[in-house]
Amino acid sequence: MKRAAILAVLALAGLATTAYGAFQTIPRLQDEVFAMGVRAQLLRASQLPRSNDALLVVLCGTSSPLPLRGTAKSCALVVAGEQLFLVDIGPEASENLALWRIPAPDIQGVFLTHFHSDHIGELGEFNIQGWVQGRRSPLEVFGPEGVSAVVEGFNAAYSFDRAYRHAHHDHGSGLLPLEAARMQARTIPIGPTGASPQGRTSVILERDGVRVTAIETDHRPVVPALSYRFDYLGRSVVITGDTVYHLPLAEAARGADVLISEAQSHRMQDIFAEEADGLGQASLASVLRDTSSYHIDPVEAAQLANEAGVRDLVYTHIAPPIVMPLLRTPWLRGVRDVRPEGVRIGHDGMMITIPADGGTIRYSRLRG
Ligand SMILES: [Zn+2]
Ligand SMILES: [Zn+2]
Repeated sequence: MKRAAILAVLALAGLATTAYGAFQTIPRLQDEVFAMGVRAQLLRASQLPRSNDALLVVLCGTSSPLPLRGTAKSCALVVAGEQLFLVDIGPEASENLALWRIPAPDIQGVFLTHFHSDHIGELGEFNIQGWVQGRRSPLEVFGPEGVSAVVEGFNAAYSFDRAYRHAHHDHGSGLLPLEAARMQARTIPIGPTGASPQGRTSVILERDGVRVTAIETDHRPVVPALSYRFDYLGRSVVITGDTVYHLPLAEAARGADVLISEAQSHRMQDIFAEEADGLGQASLASVLRDTSSYHIDPVEAAQLANEAGVRDLVYTHIAPPIVMPLLRTPWLRGVRDVRPEGVRIGHDGMMITIPADGGTIRYSRLRG
């Protein structure tokens, strides 16, 4: 029996060696194998389920400005029936969307929380991807005062790109209409408030059963900064953007099913800064120390979630980066005392399904 197993392994190894040798020497076989692979990729459907009876959120970027391999910066995709929206589009997020086969032309609008680079860095890239894939009208970009300057800046930076692509690929067929490549800014009417934000909100879109509300938050000196609440079929989700613990935000998030909150462990960030100082990296240490004044700690976010009475809290914009699972414990220190259940750490590809019938919120994972 043992001898038969050894012979079988040897036979398999011989077959594999022969196949490898054939692949290396027969060009037609190489091309056929490549074509099979391409067919398999092209037939892969979008991993995004389209459902008219649930509100869906996919986290397309969950890291803070510090790099974490395989993790994009701030980005969330909200799906309400046939309507798709993005909240922020940080660096590397458009690659996630492409790998998951999210149909970029179907995304009708981008809502920017504020203009830090980790929230807007890939706006130009995402816009071009959607246009090349077939979007026939301009992408709408909503944001606080200043969004016009940001959008026009990206439009200017990509002016050569859209001209090249139009000249090369349109073939006079109208496949790549130039006017659809220029994004359009939509300023949300919440003005700067100076030193004391009053928690103002503004309903900015009501369409086919979806209501989007902008909520002023506190990320000073970034003024104004916004959170967004999406209501659909009686279910709701709030995405904080960057903020400190801010009670008016809890008020505006009241009763939401899921609060997706940024969070930074201030204690771990301070350790990070001390280590940087110890190694003579003074400017990094100084920047790291500054961040605690305008971000929310995981324990504070749990308190905010309790205050708002939300069912689930999902952390995103994780700082400092949780580079190994072991570090989840110190990052979450103290959270369980405040909120024993209904807490998750988000990751790229996390899909949150909030059924319209009031059923249990489900968590799954998209893979690229
Ligand atoms: Zn920020
Ligand atoms: Zn940020």
